[in-house]
Amino acid sequence: MTEKAALGFIGLGRMGAPMTRRLIEAGHALTLFDTDERALAPLLELGATRAASPAAVADAVEVVLLSLPTPEIVLAVAGGPGGLIEGRRLRTVIDLSTTGPKGSQALAALLAGHGIETIDAPVSGGVAGAAKGTLAVMAAGKAAQLEALRPVLECFGRVFVAGAEPGMGQTIKVINNLMSVTALAMASEALVLGRASGLDPDVMIDIINASSGRNNATEDKFPRFVLPRSFDFGFALGLSDKDTRLCLEHSDALGMPMIVGSAARQVLKIALATQGAEADLTTIVKPLEGWMGVEVKGRKAEER
Ligand code: NAD
Repeated sequence: MTEKAALGFIGLGRMGAPMTRRLIEAGHALTLFDTDERALAPLLELGATRAASPAAVADAVEVVLLSLPTPEIVLAVAGGPGGLIEGRRLRTVIDLSTTGPKGSQALAALLAGHGIETIDAPVSGGVAGAAKGTLAVMAAGKAAQLEALRPVLECFGRVFVAGAEPGMGQTIKVINNLMSVTALAMASEALVLGRASGLDPDVMIDIINASSGRNNATEDKFPRFVLPRSFDFGFALGLSDKDTRLCLEHSDALGMPMIVGSAARQVLKIALATQGAEADLTTIVKPLEGWMGVEVKGRKAEER
């Protein structure tokens, strides 16, 4: 077996933990940091090494991956006290977090000042995709750097090169996520309307998925997480709020109105105000159900 590069990983949450597990299984030695001790424990059991700070990770390895909640946290981990820029070995940061084009450009500028390259590589495909290695990886960075690190990114799924400039991967990522939330918001309104009209949720989903209204929400999120009432898709409302904000800030910066996307964000805002930032994205349907006094509950939930 050829020697696999030692890597650092910071942010071992819903996405970071399964991605780290895949890197360990592929034969990489991992040095880890997370502010939450509970996130570290299961990965240390797999043989990974704990570091005391981002700077300590950057002292141990040349390549560090990040999977952190917001652009503000990414910048603090990179440039704050005990941050990555204080480490001596680090050469490249791969940011898997969703930080938007502006956040990614700020990170690249900060790190470039310390001789560190940045690859933005936000991902799509959820917690299940992170575990199975079936994510879409939207990479941007210098071609030579990207090619050298492609085998690492391929541990997570299919790698798409969005462009050479920092932020290009982030641009398509936040566009994708606004589309995804818009589909979910529309599907929520549609399914609640149908239920309030006396239609059976399982029958509605079958019909829509054989018809032109189908989308990711009707094919995946409704049948797997809403109809069974498990609401455990694994993506927090607060993070989705951040993603849609980043996309609309970007469209604003370009002077482009996004009418449908802005409306979908308001549906998300109502869910956020009533369910809280930690609630699952799929609970977006609940306020609409409350208004109409119905539940979009499927046969599987009834059987429980
Ligand atoms: P999460 O909240 O589950 O995990 C974030 C992790 O970062 C936690 O373990 C937390 O303790 C750690 N953390 C927070 N602040 C830190 C700091 N200052 N230093 C070190 N560690 C810190 O979030 P997630 O769902 O895994 O998402 C991570 C990123 O991936 C986000 O940017 C999100 O938008 C994106 N994303 C998530 C999904 C999904 O389905 N969950 C899908 C695609 C992209």
